[in-house]
Amino acid sequence: MKNMFDVHTTSLTKGIGRTKEFEKKGLAQYSVNVGTKCSHGCSYCSSASLLRMHSSFKAAKKSPFEDGYAIIDPEIASKVAYNAKHTWNRGQVMLCTTVDAWCPAAQKYNLGRKCLEAILAEPGWTVRILTKNAAVVDDFDIIEKYRSRVILGLSITSTNDKISSILEPNASSITERMKALKLARAKGIRVYSMLCPLIAGIANSRAVIDELVQFGEEIGSEEFFAETVNRRGKALPNTQNVLAENDFAKEAKAVEAIRHQAGWSEYAVELIRDVQASMRKYSDIDKLKFLLYPSNLLPEDEAQIKKDDKGVVWL
Ligand code: SF4
Repeated sequence: MKNMFDVHTTSLTKGIGRTKEFEKKGLAQYSVNVGTKCSHGCSYCSSASLLRMHSSFKAAKKSPFEDGYAIIDPEIASKVAYNAKHTWNRGQVMLCTTVDAWCPAAQKYNLGRKCLEAILAEPGWTVRILTKNAAVVDDFDIIEKYRSRVILGLSITSTNDKISSILEPNASSITERMKALKLARAKGIRVYSMLCPLIAGIANSRAVIDELVQFGEEIGSEEFFAETVNRRGKALPNTQNVLAENDFAKEAKAVEAIRHQAGWSEYAVELIRDVQASMRKYSDIDKLKFLLYPSNLLPEDEAQIKKDDKGVVWL
């Protein structure tokens, strides 16, 4: 269910930025983002809440919260190259954290490939790719060339292509993402699992979690990141509405049930327990990083999680 979108351009001041939040998550010390509005159009995206004050939205005469457009910096790779060369304290870069470098608008300028080349041309940098687009396979030649310095993840957020086409309208289907990860495995590319977000009613059943964990093992995932859906901004009402409009009434109801704190808190506890159990059964609990913001938990649920918080990263 691909949506049409306009592409606006901007000029970002920085190529590679420091990210304490993603360092805390165990993902990377630095980030590269290729614009301020991603064209994948995920219903639960929290980037608009994070970037809403950026001047590019005013320049584009758009609200950060509306859909149907993207804002991309076509020249970002030259800024990344400059920062890669002039930063002395080098480390892991996440490509990307708020705007996907392989989203269709970024593909138009080949930004994923150009940023990868710019970072890897300098020694001392490693890259953690995170995308929802199987177009990254076109750049496997570079990843193979720098195999020891790159780890690849494609977010797997359900087992249902129909639902993902509604919630992530311009991203690749789950089937295409899994195919890309299998190809990466066949080529000896290092991979990790990104099970984020595991939305209530869509990917929080034990059966779905087991399937995703077993798939992660099959492709040789070095790590498993998992997360609840974020309550920030309009993530939950948007997701509920788009599910209801597309005849997924049961799933929309499950999302509605986690819009209030008690429902969300209960969902978070159960999700953590199911992911831990699945990791213990089908993988290795030491590979799990369940990213958890405790501010929305009820005190009794937080205490309950603390009784066994193996694999939980408290943010
Ligand atoms: S791929 Fe990531 S950044 Fe892009 S819309 Fe989806 S959640 Fe937001």
